[in-house]
Amino acid sequence: MSINIKLLSLLGVLAFIVVVGVYVLRRQSQRLRLVQSSEGDVRFQSLTELTSDCYWEMDAEFRFTRLEGSMALSQGLISESDLGLACWDIPAFHLNQAQCDACRTTLQPQALFRGLELQRQLPSGDPCWIALSGSPCFDGKGVFTGYRGAGCDITRRKLDVQRIEQLAYFDELTSLPNRRSLAQHLKQALQALTNHPRHGALMFIDLDNFKTINDVQGRELGNVLLQQVAQRLTESVRDTDTVARIGSDEFVVLLNELSAYAGEATFQANGVGKAIMARLNQPYDILGQSFHSTPSIGVALFNDPLKSGEELLKRAEMAMSHAKTAGRNVMRFYDPDMEAAASELAALEAELRQGLQLGELRLHYQPVVDELSRLSGVEALVRWQHPKRGLLLPIEFIELAEKSGLIMPLGQWVLEAACQQLVSWSELETTRELSMAVNVSARQFHQPDFVTKLLDLLRRTQANPFRLKLELTESLLLADMADAVRKMTELRAIGVSFALDDFGTGYSSLSYLKTLPLDQLKIDQSFVRDVLTNPNDAAIVRSILALAHSLDLTTVAEGVETEGQRQFLLDNGCWAFQGHLFGKSEPLDKLPLNL
Ligand code: C2E
Ligand code: CA
Ligand code: CA
Repeated sequence: MSINIKLLSLLGVLAFIVVVGVYVLRRQSQRLRLVQSSEGDVRFQSLTELTSDCYWEMDAEFRFTRLEGSMALSQGLISESDLGLACWDIPAFHLNQAQCDACRTTLQPQALFRGLELQRQLPSGDPCWIALSGSPCFDGKGVFTGYRGAGCDITRRKLDVQRIEQLAYFDELTSLPNRRSLAQHLKQALQALTNHPRHGALMFIDLDNFKTINDVQGRELGNVLLQQVAQRLTESVRDTDTVARIGSDEFVVLLNELSAYAGEATFQANGVGKAIMARLNQPYDILGQSFHSTPSIGVALFNDPLKSGEELLKRAEMAMSHAKTAGRNVMRFYDPDMEAAASELAALEAELRQGLQLGELRLHYQPVVDELSRLSGVEALVRWQHPKRGLLLPIEFIELAEKSGLIMPLGQWVLEAACQQLVSWSELETTRELSMAVNVSARQFHQPDFVTKLLDLLRRTQANPFRLKLELTESLLLADMADAVRKMTELRAIGVSFALDDFGTGYSSLSYLKTLPLDQLKIDQSFVRDVLTNPNDAAIVRSILALAHSLDLTTVAEGVETEGQRQFLLDNGCWAFQGHLFGKSEPLDKLPLNL
């Protein structure tokens, strides 16, 4: 019995030891887990504090129950006030119905998801984007209890994408859609015509004097002008229309939703075009100065969904070119005759190319006389002896030659023929002193090898450079002033002289006139014509002459047709004349060498 009691008490002690041991061990392990878990929390917290990411949990109704991440909090990426709300109930996300539906579709499958993008407005007003990824949670019985996951700030990436899109589809200077973007709008406009018959209109707008303003006043001012034009255009059309900038001073307006009836649509487009004309004609206030600029507008109407956007743009541009030719600051609607004229021009270009090779060009000469009406020189004026059309004047082919680049061989031919003529004149006493004025086009003059070629020509032909005068225009000089000055200086060094042609019709600014190495001003015939009847023209001619004297430049008055005009010019200090009074431009054998 006593043994049993001893045994029992031993067992009791052992059991006590085991119980106490287990208790102590459990307490210890519990303490350990707590320590471990709070360390994890601390680590987790410091991680979320260091990054701009956040940790979140949602309940089974997709309401946020936990949001953590102090940077995220301070940046406004997440907010305490979001707790207890589902994404679609959080006001700062501004989700529309479609976006709410997209959120629900992502969350409802109770499965892993990534990259659910939400945009919210920060308290500063700036937008920020957050991308959520989450995994579903289930309890021990497999019942869905919600989601937990991470959110990260993708604002920078979003802004980069926006910037790339902006660069790809918008013009940086004016923020208007660019050419690529216009092509898309146009495509959509054409597609929309399939189900909805009506008209649209494409307006091609080109600023008439932009290049001069830009060259003379500087790019900075030119840029402000373009921005103001963009602004005015945008204000002149409806929100449903598109205004784009597709070239330096080329804008396009796409008018949608015009009438289904052609006549009415034309009337509507004409109205908008006129309003644009008027708006762009108003003076521009730029950096405290007032400027005037005018547009030439070409309009192409469309109602055929099968037409290509490119084709329409070409039509509008063609109409714009016609507006330019019609004197600028006008609007022209495209009509199929324009296309015919364009193909005729293309044919003429091919014929000119051939004509150059076949020697169909001719030089005519117009006398230039001194104050005693004695012949002092000539101006060489090119003609084209066309096999079918007869003798063509420069107005019929010079512009075409300039556009097509044929002006280079053409101009070279003129210089060559003029130099050869100088050489034959140098052999005779009566003609030895005659000077030869040759017109030079901008494209020809700005060729990098213009000077080298001319020097070579003078050397080859042995023509006297002191008898050769090159006539340049203001727009040519303004196109690249530094290049012009360099070339002129180089050629003047060997005796070639320079005249500024059609003076008074261009910009005529004293400041640039002073910097150019010129010898002569040619007073444009438009002032000479009415010099006796129009006091304005008389005043202009007088001031041109005064200006020339003060700059030590000689003058030639062009288009002198009457004795009265000659006398007026003479009285005001002009000593050289050119015009029908002394002779028209004629072939060499008709030149009155005995003047
Ligand atoms: P421009 O240099 O102003 O030449 C003067 C133009 O006025 C010539 O016309 C001439 O025939 C005309 N004219 C001369 N006197 C009178 C007059 O008393 N009354 C009237 N009503 N007109 C007069 P043209 O020969 O038709 O030349 C027109 C333009 O073509 C020239 O204007 C010049 O800019 C250009 N041009 C002519 N030849 C060449 C050339 O070889 N190369 C280049 N690049 N252009 C040329
Ligand atoms: Ca001339
Ligand atoms: Ca002239």
